[in-house]
Amino acid sequence: MTNAVTQEVLITGGGLAGGALALALAQAGLRVTLIDREVPAVHADPGFDGRSYALALGSKRLLANIGLWQAVAENAQPINGIKVSDGRAGEGPLSPFHLAFDAAEIEEGPMGYLLEDRFLRQAMLSALAESGVTHLTGQTVVAQEAEGSRIWVSLESGDSHDAALLIGCDGRQSGTAKRAGIGRTGWGYGQTAVVCAVSHEADHGGIAHQFFMPSGPLAILPLPGRRSSIVWSETDARAAELMALDDADFLDALRPAFGSFLGDISLAGMRFSYSLGLTLADSFVAPRLALAGDAAHGVHPIAGQGLNAGLRDVAALADVLETARMRGEDIGSALVLARYQQWRRFDTATLAVATDSFNRLFSNDNPLLRGLRDLGLGAVNALPGVRRAFIREAAGLTGDLPRLMRS
Ligand SMILES: Cc1cc2nc3c(=O)[nH]c(=O)nc-3n(C[C@H](O)[C@H](O)[C@H](O)COP(=O)(O)OP(=O)(O)OC[C@H]3O[C@@H](n4cnc5c(N)ncnc54)[C@H](O)[C@@H]3O)c2cc1C
Repeated sequence: MTNAVTQEVLITGGGLAGGALALALAQAGLRVTLIDREVPAVHADPGFDGRSYALALGSKRLLANIGLWQAVAENAQPINGIKVSDGRAGEGPLSPFHLAFDAAEIEEGPMGYLLEDRFLRQAMLSALAESGVTHLTGQTVVAQEAEGSRIWVSLESGDSHDAALLIGCDGRQSGTAKRAGIGRTGWGYGQTAVVCAVSHEADHGGIAHQFFMPSGPLAILPLPGRRSSIVWSETDARAAELMALDDADFLDALRPAFGSFLGDISLAGMRFSYSLGLTLADSFVAPRLALAGDAAHGVHPIAGQGLNAGLRDVAALADVLETARMRGEDIGSALVLARYQQWRRFDTATLAVATDSFNRLFSNDNPLLRGLRDLGLGAVNALPGVRRAFIREAAGLTGDLPRLMRS
């Protein structure tokens, strides 16, 4: 092995989870190396990722605590309410059965924020450059080996690095998990999300709409100004057709599903598509190794919770490692890693089951199921206590909150 470099923590994968974790750990005083196979110019390109994230209030607090929120705040749209409704193409999101959540029902203010990937990604790259984190870009991890009190990672370039702990934040196909022999449970949904931003005539008032169509959900999420981000989940075949249409034909296809409640719509940028599936790592830890973000759990975007769950891993892991270090414990020991796994695995398995069941329950036109779910929506809407519980859950304010997610 050549060019060995010693650190306390190595992170494979400098996406949003890996980047946030590197910043959080560096802030806690750990020596961190973050490795990503892309170069920053790829991540910083506005055409890299068309997603806008619905970030729960808990995630916003984490981003503020690691010094990122200040740089993105002016481009973030507060979510003042969420409307969930059932329907068929052509009915628009004004179906008589709906569920409405209003941020005024909780005292913390907006339940979350919409933020475009390009702003968050740019802020993260700038913060990393000033953080003291060793950020290796354009470098692919190809091998790893735990040995005694260290774990070694080899790069395609021939370089190697070692640390007390390796954290895999390398996404749904996590090579870190595979190389450690961690299996996965999951399946594809046969659905693809078509994502784009649209401009519209009327103000959205900060309201996010989730509109359940038989072939998959359509989310209309408020962005700053008279713009919204669309996440339109369709069957793979239909999504491929939609992606192949020119802009005018695409808008003609979108209009009946979107409805007219925001006036006429036009495209505000490129279209992107993401194949949808569920993947859950059978374990979040292995000797000298932990998984976080999509490497640990990739869920359907139906509830906009994937990155939020990843950021909760980040906050929990930072909490566990910082405490262990203060106590003089070995941060890569099985005992310390078990605390992280115990904190996060049950929560994320529950999220995976919930998003999977939701998608199955709503992505069909079975009249019996339609009747039941409309009854369910109406019942939850009629119960203020249950509604408030849902709002607190969506805002990421429930459960055992890690320090970085507290106000
Ligand atoms: C359509 C859609 C909408 C969504 N909307 C929301 C939302 O509103 N709210 C929300 O919370 N979540 C949402 N999500 C989920 C969210 O996008 C993901 O959970 C999140 O982006 C995952 O980030 P990550 O950093 O864990 O993984 P990734 O973004 O996959 O990052 C993995 C990184 O690892 C690097 N890497 C991989 N292998 C190697 C290697 N061998 N060596 C070096 N580097 C490597 C890659 O280059 C990459 O940078 C949505 C998802 C989709 C598909």
